[in-house]
Amino acid sequence: MPLPLSVPPLMLTTGPVPIYPEVLKALGAPVLYDYHPTFQEFYAGVIEKLRVAFRTDIAPVIMQGEAILGIEAAAAALISSNDVVLNLVSGVYGKGFEGWAARYGKEVIEIAVPFDEIIDPEAVRDAFRKRPDITVVSLCHHDTPSGTLNPLNEIGAIVAEYGAYLIVDAVSSFGGMDVHPQTAHADIFITSPSKCLGSTPGLSLISVSKRGWEKIERNDDAPRGSFLSLAAWKDASIPGRTFPVTPSIAEIYALDAALDRYAQEGSENVWARHAETATIARKGLLKLDIALWPKQEAWCAPTATAFKIPSGFTDVELRDRLLNEDGILLSLGRADTAGKVLRIAHMGASAQPEFARKTVAALSSILS
Ligand SMILES: *Cc1c(COP(=O)(O)O)cnc(C)c1O
Repeated sequence: MPLPLSVPPLMLTTGPVPIYPEVLKALGAPVLYDYHPTFQEFYAGVIEKLRVAFRTDIAPVIMQGEAILGIEAAAAALISSNDVVLNLVSGVYGKGFEGWAARYGKEVIEIAVPFDEIIDPEAVRDAFRKRPDITVVSLCHHDTPSGTLNPLNEIGAIVAEYGAYLIVDAVSSFGGMDVHPQTAHADIFITSPSKCLGSTPGLSLISVSKRGWEKIERNDDAPRGSFLSLAAWKDASIPGRTFPVTPSIAEIYALDAALDRYAQEGSENVWARHAETATIARKGLLKLDIALWPKQEAWCAPTATAFKIPSGFTDVELRDRLLNEDGILLSLGRADTAGKVLRIAHMGASAQPEFARKTVAALSSILS
């Protein structure tokens, strides 16, 4: 097939997302040798921009692989064979963490709720009361296949109160709402350029707290000399240091442009745009008598809206009609939500009120 492949006019998918024009332009810049001092300085600048976006005091790291790499690397780095892990499960990604926690930890305890519900912070407190030996907690903030948002900051405060470590998958929420590593009390916080930042998939953006780094350094089980080694990327941004592996230069350029865009629009304005788009989508769907997937509207994420398939359609039929008749591409459900939902993403460039209105109007005409 010739390049570029054709892109649907409205790609309202939950990642990859349509990338901003500035990001696309940055991808075409000449690829520099990674040890060229100019690139090393540029890379240090990108890390600094990411630190500012994360609102942390500590330089974050970038790993060279799509965000699942970062999440798996976080588990491998932080969880040792002495750790009891509390894994919080309200969706597909939360459930997926269980395997890594079990691989590296001594024991995994799980709080699981149906995938149209969210984790109750009080249940986390109860778990600590019953099992004061819990040392690591993991949480997916926005479990994207369900479109639900967990009360991260409340849970983070409880985890901190009990002195445990917190790993947060904020892949599909960071950049689309007010969520940051330090306010969440996260020891490792992972996100991706390919969701709300409106850039390409292929990198993991990771913030590690001071005590998180200390635990990683103490952990003899943490990978070293491995592609999965988070520790290998610590301080890699200091000019003159060597990179553990060659960074994906073009994707670093793209990330730089995405971070500039985020700063220029202003984070608060970006979040407001996401929230407004999601509200329009939810209200519009409810007006059409289309049910939201989350049991309560208050649990819906501002970065994706999951709705139940209206009777008379399958998920694929409805997806295909929206695509073929209206040029709108939505995401299907995944695993437990497969066949039950369609999802409208409001992420980065796709978080535009008019796109939510267009989608609701298209659904309205298909249903009537
Ligand atoms: C997109 C996403 C990831 C990245 O994983 P993929 O399934 O490979 O796209 C991780 N966590 C969440 C919550 C995501 O939405």
